[in-house]
Amino acid sequence: MDEEKNEEMREEKTDGVEEKKSSDKTEKKNADYEEYCYLCRRPESVAGKMLHMPNDLKVCNDCLQKTFNSINSTNFPGMDMFALDPSMFRFLSDAPKMPKVKKKPKEAEKEKKKEELAELNMKTLKPPHKIKAELDEYVIGQEKAKKVISVAVYNHYKRVLEKEPKIELDKSNMLMLGPTGSGKTYLVKTLARLLNVPLAITDATSLTEAGYIGDDVESVLSKLLAAADNDVERAEKGIVFIDEIDKIAKKRNTNSRDVSGESVQQGLLKLLEGSEVEVPVGATNKNAMVPMTTINTKNILFICGGAFPDLEKIIRNRLNKTAGVGFGSDLKDKYDEDRQLLDKVTVEDLREYGMIPEFLGRLPVVFSLQGLGKEQMIRVLSEPKNAILKQYEHLLELDEVELKFSEDALEAIAERALKKDTGARALRAILEEVMLDIMYEIPKDENIGRVTITGDYIRGCGGPVIEMRG
Ligand code: ADP
Repeated sequence: MDEEKNEEMREEKTDGVEEKKSSDKTEKKNADYEEYCYLCRRPESVAGKMLHMPNDLKVCNDCLQKTFNSINSTNFPGMDMFALDPSMFRFLSDAPKMPKVKKKPKEAEKEKKKEELAELNMKTLKPPHKIKAELDEYVIGQEKAKKVISVAVYNHYKRVLEKEPKIELDKSNMLMLGPTGSGKTYLVKTLARLLNVPLAITDATSLTEAGYIGDDVESVLSKLLAAADNDVERAEKGIVFIDEIDKIAKKRNTNSRDVSGESVQQGLLKLLEGSEVEVPVGATNKNAMVPMTTINTKNILFICGGAFPDLEKIIRNRLNKTAGVGFGSDLKDKYDEDRQLLDKVTVEDLREYGMIPEFLGRLPVVFSLQGLGKEQMIRVLSEPKNAILKQYEHLLELDEVELKFSEDALEAIAERALKKDTGARALRAILEEVMLDIMYEIPKDENIGRVTITGDYIRGCGGPVIEMRG
C-alpha cells in the first residue's frame, strides 16, 4: 500500500518537473516573439511595453489611454477597466490569432555588431597609395581614376575627421565620366566597402522636382540613412553615388517646365553644398505617417557618375576648332581617333552638354574612366579578388570538379563581350549563358574530375574537354 502511494507521489513529482520544463521552454520561445496590441495591432517594438489584461489580452499604453479618455468623455467617471468582468473581453480572445513576428536584434546587439567593424577614424584612415593598392585588387585598369579618387577620398575624410580644424577645407564632391560597364559603380562600391562607410546608390533618372511624380532629391538621403541602419551620425559621414547624372542635363528646345532635368540639378545644389535637410525615415517620400529626422550633408561625399554620350563630340569639336589655328597648329583630324578624349573635358564642355554652372561648381573633382579593351576584359574575368571565373571555379570545386578556361576561351569571351558594347557588364551575361549546360550536366556524373572550357565551345563550334577522375 505504502509503495503504491510512494509511486504515485513520485509520478506527481516528475509530472511537476516536466510541466515546469515545458513552461520554461514556451516562455523562452515566446521571449523571441513580439507581443502585439489587440486593439491597434502594433508590435511591442513600435507601441512600447504591453499591459497584460485578463484572458491573455495585451493592450498598449496608447490604446488603454484612449479607452480611458473615451470612457471619461462619455460621463462614466470612476469606471475601472480592470474591475470589469473578464468574460466581457472574450470576444477579443476569440478573434483569429495574430501572426508571430520574430523580434529584431536588441539595440545592444546592434551596437556590438557595429563595434566589430572598425570605425573610420584618423588612425584607421589609410593614405592614398594604400587606398589605391586595395582598389587595385578589385578594379582592373582605370589607373588615373583610381589615383584621383583615392586622393579625393583621403582629403575628404581628413576634413571630416579633424576635430578642431584650423582652416575650413572645401568639400571634394566628384563627377565621374565613363562609358557604361567601365566600372564606375563598382569603383564606388569597392571604395565604400574598404572604408567601411555607408553607401547609397541612386539613379538620377528617378528624381524629379518636389511635388511631381517621382522621388524628391531628399530620397537619396533616406537611402543613405537606411544603409547606415538609421544611425544619423554614421549616415552623415557616408557616400552618396548618383548614377546616370547625364540624364538630368538641361533639356534643349523645350518650352515646358523641366521637372526631371534642370530642376533636379537645382534641387541637388543644397545637398551637394552642405545643409540641414529634413528626411523621412524608412520611406523615400514624405507623408504624414512617416517620422522625419534632420541630416546635415556637410560631411557626406557626393559622387556623380554618367556615361555622357555625345560629350566626346563636343570635346572633339572644341579641340578641332583650336587645332587648326596659328603657327604649329595640329592636324585638323588629330582628335578623331583619340580614345582618351574624355580626359580632356572642361567645365565649358559639360555646360554645353546641359549641366548648369552652379551644379558643376559643386563638383570640383572631375575625372574619367576609359572603355575597357580586350586585354582588360580578359583581366576582369580572372584577376579581381572576386573575379567571375574564380566564382565559377569555386562553385564546381564544391562538387570536387576542377574547372579550367583555356587562353583561347578567355579571348573568345572578351571578343563576344566587346561586340555587345556594354563594357564588362556583358562578361557576366555571356558566362551565365555558356556555363548553364556545364553547371547542369556535371553534377550528374560523379566520375568527372576536370572540365576545360575551350575557345571553340565559346564560339559554339565545339564542346568542353571533360576528363574523368583517377
Ligand atoms: P558602370 O560604369 O556602368 O557603372 P559597373 O561598375 O556597374 O559599370 O560595372 C559592371 C560590372 O562589370 C561590375 O559589377 C564589375 O564586376 C565589372 N567591372 C566593370 N569594370 C571593371 C573593372 N575596371 N575592373 C573589374 N571589374 C569591372
